[in-house]
Amino acid sequence: MKFNIKQFVIFIIIALLGVLYTIFADYYFEQREQTASVILNTLQDDMSEVGYILSKNVKRLENIPSHRAVLDRAAANNEFIAAIMVVNDDQTLLTTDPSYRRVPNGNKGRRQVNETAYDVLTKTQSLEGTIRFYENAKLIKLRLIFVIDRGEVDLYLRHNKIKFFIYFGVLPSVLMLLIWGLLNFFLTQPLEKLRQYLMTQNKVPKAFKLNELEEIRLSMIKTFSRLEQEQEELYRLARTDMLTGLANRNALNEYLKQLIASCAAEKKEFAFLFLDLDFFKTVNDSLGHHIGDALLQKVGQSIRELLYQGDFIARVGGDEFIILLHNYRSINELSNIVENIQKRLNNPWVIQKHHINISSSVGIAFYPKDGKDHISLMQHSDIAMYEAKKKGRAQYHFFTEELNTQVQETIALDKAMQKALKNNEYRLYYQPKVNCLTGKIIGAEALIRWVKPSGEVVPPNVFIPLAEENGFIIDLGMWVLKEALRQQQQWKHEGIDITMSINIAAKQLLQEDFGYKFNILLQEYKVDPSKLDLEITEYLFLEQTKSNFNVLDTIRQKGVSISLDDFGTGYSSLSYLKKFPIDNLKIDKSFVDDYDNEQGAVFLETIVKMGKSLNMEVIAEGVETQSQIDYLKQIGCSTYQGYYCSKPLPENDFKRYYQQKSSHPKESA
Ligand code: C2E
Ligand code: CA
Ligand code: CA
Repeated sequence: MKFNIKQFVIFIIIALLGVLYTIFADYYFEQREQTASVILNTLQDDMSEVGYILSKNVKRLENIPSHRAVLDRAAANNEFIAAIMVVNDDQTLLTTDPSYRRVPNGNKGRRQVNETAYDVLTKTQSLEGTIRFYENAKLIKLRLIFVIDRGEVDLYLRHNKIKFFIYFGVLPSVLMLLIWGLLNFFLTQPLEKLRQYLMTQNKVPKAFKLNELEEIRLSMIKTFSRLEQEQEELYRLARTDMLTGLANRNALNEYLKQLIASCAAEKKEFAFLFLDLDFFKTVNDSLGHHIGDALLQKVGQSIRELLYQGDFIARVGGDEFIILLHNYRSINELSNIVENIQKRLNNPWVIQKHHINISSSVGIAFYPKDGKDHISLMQHSDIAMYEAKKKGRAQYHFFTEELNTQVQETIALDKAMQKALKNNEYRLYYQPKVNCLTGKIIGAEALIRWVKPSGEVVPPNVFIPLAEENGFIIDLGMWVLKEALRQQQQWKHEGIDITMSINIAAKQLLQEDFGYKFNILLQEYKVDPSKLDLEITEYLFLEQTKSNFNVLDTIRQKGVSISLDDFGTGYSSLSYLKKFPIDNLKIDKSFVDDYDNEQGAVFLETIVKMGKSLNMEVIAEGVETQSQIDYLKQIGCSTYQGYYCSKPLPENDFKRYYQQKSSHPKESA
């Protein structure tokens, strides 16, 4: 049989109550009997005394009434006596109370052997004794009857009963309740809390009052926290690669599950890299496993250091690592990260005085394009890695051929573009800026071209975006700046005194020493700053920082004007227009194209008006027809650029065109 603590406590209390009440009951009955005995004894004492007095003093039957005083005194002295009667046969000779003339039924002479005083007292109406005397030598027996005062006796006994009830009924109950409460508070509840803590381990009970329970509680807490630590340690061990301390396959699978779930929800991609060391087996075989192990440790550590926070690396086999990347903005940026890792691993390693050269092959697959679960990602990156090995190792390969080609082309372009600068293959072409009203050329915008030795002219949109992305624009931009200033100086000598507009990429302008270098060039080429104009784009304002503002401001204070290029296509907040020092707005060609439909016209007109109210000159880009010029004149736009006047021209062509234009200005106004 099983029962819980509560039941146990209740059981004990009931048992205690049982024992207590048995004792109480016994005591109660004894007390009752004693009380009854005392009453009965007083009655019997009085009875024998009155019987004795009368037996002694009565000489003649007819004199009985004269002894009434004795009876009266006895009756008055004993509160339990209602009346005393003297009876001869059935005739009442004398009574202390006239209402009692007949002997009540159920009177008792003597008490029986087994009878208790209480029984006698409660069942009996009267007690009986005898009076004996001799009258004329003849023995006369009279009955002496004590009528018991029931009311008085009952009152007395009941009074005792109430006292008992209070002492033995109410007090123990209160006591038991108290015991119950205390047991509950000190024992039952703490034990229950301990039990729950044991089962769930999540709510640590507060300190207990009983020492033993408190000790149990403390040791439970200690045990649980040790268990938890052990569990954590086990968890960590099960997910760590013992050799490198990186994550292992288990951890990779777990992490992938989470990453896939979150990327699926956010519709994002990530790159799954399979990196395998080339010829690692040779290292192991020739130098021993301990060197191989040390190399793997260093390799793991180095890759780890090159990753961004939040990227993930695991070792999943001898010399195989899986890397998960999602902090890249373009394929090129990703390629750069991979190249960095490979470059780092290519550096010679020194392990216990051995110089070791290794390389690595990397296969790249993308979630979700190349695989939506960890098995397909693993397989496809593995295939890509083998492709890299096949192509001669020490390189990376994408899973899809298409992406692979694209990336290879980008890499090729990157190399060629940098080489072109050394080989002096870049040229600046110049496109006139024209006054809408007079048709006069008031300036020229320098636009870069890559003229290959074959004569092929590569337009800037092929290489400028890549140059901006990988930072080559900084060197290239410097070349543009020098070349444009040189041209400006040369033209000035040749009598062509116009403003030169130069495109400056955001990355270039944000170089810390841009202002300084620009200054030096100004002095070197002795160009009038007021004849210079820098064209910037809204990308510069993506971060509206103080340093952005300062660069523009210092340049402008020298007298150089600033134009905002491609206005309306990029960053949408207009707040920068007020904050930043801008002189000219160049309306993007797409707006000029739309001049003849209502919406486009509204845009154009609004921009021109806005420019005027901000004290800026507005220049329309990409003007190709006379009617566009007519419309621009009508809405008050003063300057334009476009094929209608001229395409960008090589320097000599521009010079010829300018001179021809100046001598016959009317022709194209
Ligand atoms: P951009 O600064 O907005 O230059 C205007 C582009 O529009 C030029 O293309 C120009 O040839 C073209 N264009 C001008 N008028 C017309 C027209 O009437 N019709 C049409 N269809 N096109 C017209 P380009 O020279 O190919 O330059 C493209 C972009 O390359 C430039 O846009 C600029 O963002 C960038 N770029 C060119 N040279 C440089 C440079 O030296 N440095 C920097 N950072 N970027 C440059
Ligand atoms: Ca421009
Ligand atoms: Ca433009």
